[in-house]
Amino acid sequence: MPEVKSTCCYCGVGCGVIIETTANQSGDLVVSGVRGDPAHPANFGKLCSKGSTLHLTAQPHLQKQGRLGFPAIRQNREDDPIQVTWPEAIDTVARRFAKIIHQYGPDSVGIYVSGQLLTEDYYLFNKLMKGLIGSNNIDTNSRLCMSSAVAGYKQTLGMDAPPCSYEDIELASTIFITGSNTAFAHPILYRRLEAARQARPEMKVIVVDPRRTDTAKDADLYLQIQPGTDVALYHGMLHIMLWEKWLDESYIASFTVGFEELKNLVRDFTPKAVAKICGIEEKDLYQASQWFAQSPGTLSLYCQGLNQSASGTAKNAALINLHLATGQIGKPGAGPFSLTGQPNAMGGREVGGLANLLSAHRDLSNPVHRSEVANFWGVEQVPEKPGLTAIPMFEALRTKELKAIWIVCTNPAQSMPDLNAVHEGLKNAELVVVQEAYANTATTLYADILLPATTWAEKIGTVTNSERTISKVNPAIAPFASAKHDWQIALEIARALEQLLTNHKKDGLTTLFPYNSAEDIWNEHRATTEGRDLDITGLSYQILEDHGPQQWPMPKGAAHGKKRLYEDGIFPTKDQKAHFIATPYTATAETVDARYPFALNTGRLRDQWHGMSRTGTLGTLFAHAPEPSIEISPKDASRMLLTNGDLVHVTSRRGSEIFPVKISEDIANSQAFIAMHWGSEFISGSAGKHPSRGVNGLTCSRIDPISGQPELKHAAIKILPV
Ligand code: SF4
Repeated sequence: MPEVKSTCCYCGVGCGVIIETTANQSGDLVVSGVRGDPAHPANFGKLCSKGSTLHLTAQPHLQKQGRLGFPAIRQNREDDPIQVTWPEAIDTVARRFAKIIHQYGPDSVGIYVSGQLLTEDYYLFNKLMKGLIGSNNIDTNSRLCMSSAVAGYKQTLGMDAPPCSYEDIELASTIFITGSNTAFAHPILYRRLEAARQARPEMKVIVVDPRRTDTAKDADLYLQIQPGTDVALYHGMLHIMLWEKWLDESYIASFTVGFEELKNLVRDFTPKAVAKICGIEEKDLYQASQWFAQSPGTLSLYCQGLNQSASGTAKNAALINLHLATGQIGKPGAGPFSLTGQPNAMGGREVGGLANLLSAHRDLSNPVHRSEVANFWGVEQVPEKPGLTAIPMFEALRTKELKAIWIVCTNPAQSMPDLNAVHEGLKNAELVVVQEAYANTATTLYADILLPATTWAEKIGTVTNSERTISKVNPAIAPFASAKHDWQIALEIARALEQLLTNHKKDGLTTLFPYNSAEDIWNEHRATTEGRDLDITGLSYQILEDHGPQQWPMPKGAAHGKKRLYEDGIFPTKDQKAHFIATPYTATAETVDARYPFALNTGRLRDQWHGMSRTGTLGTLFAHAPEPSIEISPKDASRMLLTNGDLVHVTSRRGSEIFPVKISEDIANSQAFIAMHWGSEFISGSAGKHPSRGVNGLTCSRIDPISGQPELKHAAIKILPV
């Protein structure tokens, strides 16, 4: 039966899949299987437990149970939604948005999108908001996972471009995994790392993590640091490298600026002081510094442990400092490699799908960039005022400064930190539009208008994975019920809004949205990249179909993309040098005290994905962890007379939730771990009406001042028996 090449819709590894289909009794194609694509450069045919069960999540009986099939409108929030036609839904969204914009101005509305969207969807939403409505109030759930990585790359290297490739894992001599449980969060990459170690047993793996994860257990050297002390650790490593003369002086002199200031800053980060701050042995700090600096190639892999922090940008920059100081960048097996969480967080960054960015890695704060994009789109201007980023956007709903929000392909009523405030914001909103594939999320409960969207195996477009590889996403089956592609819904609403907000039609001007297909949108995105660091003018849908996935940049005339950036030591900054950033170490936003004596850490499990809309439908994936729990150390459990399964109240400054206890040797004393996946619908089975909100009822919404990313990873809590 027909087979279609596409990608896995879960994590940023971006594995290629082959979707197998079969015809049902009515002759319609249904998904019958999935296997890894042997030709895809991310996974070469392998899939993890989530990817290899994707076909089961697309079974017709599960679709009927869980999918949103028809547009619907609620007259009152307490009422059940009433099914309407697509024209009625589109017209209602456009008219209600236009009315609010006319009454309160363009900044009274916002769009909150997702790293699960395809690049074409993302591009269109961005143009709709910044080019048509005239506000920059569009942000994405990628703000919660990648914005500190973006800011870190831009501060130091000049552009938001991960300089490495997956093949660097096979070429590295030392791999420094910091703030990432790669074994669980990026399983196929971890398989590549395991295979590389087997082939070259001399390879060293250092893991830095407050929790003894499966990744940490495999390490040659494990640094179990205190939560949030990463900047102190990196400054301490640089201190030792300076003292031991392990730096690459020639690289520093030729290709960087700002080292003197950093040198002065790290002077105080003596091994003794850093060992104390981080809670590690001096000898381990010394060993990590030596392996990092002296190996022929050191590759850092990092993720949310660095990013989800009120000092996330500083953590990213301090790590990149180490690579620049040792010349561990721009050569095989070396470099700072930020792993993306979601499948297309990279694509969103490429089209400028955040409140402070513009198309093709342009900056909203740059007047030249604003005018380039305005000229490109054929609009008078792109507004200068920065838009609301994720946390302030929901806060503005709470204070009623923002009147309307259009939420696309994400579940903020479960995934945002400090959920009580987010729910209050959604309650206060004059208009909530939710565009979703799934019917019963915590957010759909607040929707005044529901717009059904396509999902995996139905969608068409492109995604970019962590190593800058663009892959084609192809539909294998027809959209469920009357669901439409995200770009199609955005396009229809954009055209309707254009009629209501502008005189384009009356003046005989062409529409801003002249597209007939996803490819038309992608071609416009491609044109905006000309001459930029991510230039893909040499790429086309046809090339992706004929020759498979390609890495950017791939300008006109290039036969293929670029595996490694900055090999020539020239950086995309004004002075063409990389910049050292000297940021002092600061502790977590919330430190533990007598009232809240435990440091809470959050993270992923191996077999679940984010809010579980998809993975939560499969019994087989629950075998690994059937219910949420709070993990604490044996010593803390014994001190509080707790045993496995005992229920406890877990309380932070923002809320209180009940969890069963799981005693784990992997957790340090006075620390705790709760997985991020469970929201109220999975805890209570009552579709969000239960007062429990999962771990995000507890988490902290303090943001990094540069990236705007919230500190989802750390909160101070107390634990009391029920
Ligand atoms: Fe999907 Fe990520 Fe697993 Fe690959 S590693 S199969 S992209 S979840």
